[in-house]
Amino acid sequence: MNSIKRRSWAEPFKIKVVEPLKMTTREERANALKEAGYNTFLLRSEDVYIDLLTDSGTNAMSDYQWAGMLLGDEAYAGSRNYYNLEAKVQEYYGYKYLVPTHQGRGAEHMISQILIKKGDFIPGNMYFTTTRLHQELAGGTFVDVIIDEAHDPENLHPFKGNIDLQKLEDLVKRVGAERIPYISVAATVNMAGGQPISMENLRQVRALCQKHSIRVILDATRAIENAYFIKLREKGYESKSVKEILKGLCSYSDGCTMSGKKDLLVNIGGFLALNEWDIFEEARNLVVVYEGLHTYGGLAGRDMEAMARGIEEAVHEDHIRARIGQVEYVGEKLKSAGIPFVQPVGGHAIFLDAKKFLPHLRQVEFPAQTLAAELYEESGIRSMERGIVSAGRNKETGDHYYPKLELVRLTFPRRVYTQAHCDVTVEAVEEAYQQRENIKGLNMVYEPKYLRFFQARFEKL
Ligand SMILES: *Cc1c(COP(=O)(O)O)cnc(C)c1O
Repeated sequence: MNSIKRRSWAEPFKIKVVEPLKMTTREERANALKEAGYNTFLLRSEDVYIDLLTDSGTNAMSDYQWAGMLLGDEAYAGSRNYYNLEAKVQEYYGYKYLVPTHQGRGAEHMISQILIKKGDFIPGNMYFTTTRLHQELAGGTFVDVIIDEAHDPENLHPFKGNIDLQKLEDLVKRVGAERIPYISVAATVNMAGGQPISMENLRQVRALCQKHSIRVILDATRAIENAYFIKLREKGYESKSVKEILKGLCSYSDGCTMSGKKDLLVNIGGFLALNEWDIFEEARNLVVVYEGLHTYGGLAGRDMEAMARGIEEAVHEDHIRARIGQVEYVGEKLKSAGIPFVQPVGGHAIFLDAKKFLPHLRQVEFPAQTLAAELYEESGIRSMERGIVSAGRNKETGDHYYPKLELVRLTFPRRVYTQAHCDVTVEAVEEAYQQRENIKGLNMVYEPKYLRFFQARFEKL
């Protein structure tokens, strides 16, 4: 596996506008945390120093994108920005038809409602929170068919997002292909640590699905990062451009859901893209009910323009090398400090291994939630839990899902933080690691019904 050398990832931009950050005292942070119920989602952003909660919608736009915002054509119907976005999606992703949505989950909602019947099964390479919920709300059951390596935080498999073809084949045998409307393939796999899927694996998935007339729907939210990993790690793609690889990936699918808030360098936006006219037609009908007319889908014209321009910038090799290089830089520093985290480092984040970090806590004491709270109190850095709280409850038994991975995600917004911010982050994690034996777990005192990790509240044990 090629590693990314320091010299090659230096930021390919300079800073034109700055946003001052507030520094807080430990006491202020302890109070803020208590008020937020030890849930980093409930902190006020102004109390946060370095915000690594998510890379969703937190990107810094370029001057080219901001200039595009002024060219927003705010017509109710047929905005020129829609046609520009459609052209860019066709050119870079290769799908025929475009339905814009306010963000990724708008697209997930529509594709789930259109394709899933009650009692259906939807295989996928590890779940994503909103994706699975929309599948379940449509009456489907999600089935994880990711390779076993993905569940092992120390396994160095270069494509831990890959689908286990045997698991997929077994599911087809068990429930029958007629009850599998599509396979939901994420590239990269957020919940596995931003791990990529290989081109070869997707090609084989495609072949198997074609045999059984099962559609492949790509979650293309992070497909550009995935394309870059293919370039670095998969034989035969070294000299291909990220743009070419992206189109190759998409060519093995029938459509995609997309959150523009990640790869595409905007603060809001998403889309559903499709190759089949019939499904597109239904989506065009549904979008009017839930999002807005089919030529804006809940977005302003200027948002569509920023996203269209974001596509062009996102596939730029210098950009993607620096984006992933920054995450890798933090990973290398944490590795030298002996901190346990998911390897290899994924595209958008470092995932600290909370089970290893806090081995004295039981999973029902929410180790990852606890560690995220601790990091904030220690240093003002905001991260988030990806473990038992995010996994939610089994709708049949009512018990928690107990995911193998209990992780704290340090997510890097694109083009926002400098290398010095990265250094401070590493120091804060090291600090918490030295204190780890004194860290006590949490008790959940409020639990929302859906996507509980966003609003659940906790108390210190
Ligand atoms: C963020 C994300 C989504 C959901 O998109 P939203 O814009 O937050 O609704 C879906 N899949 C993946 C892989 C994501 O990272």
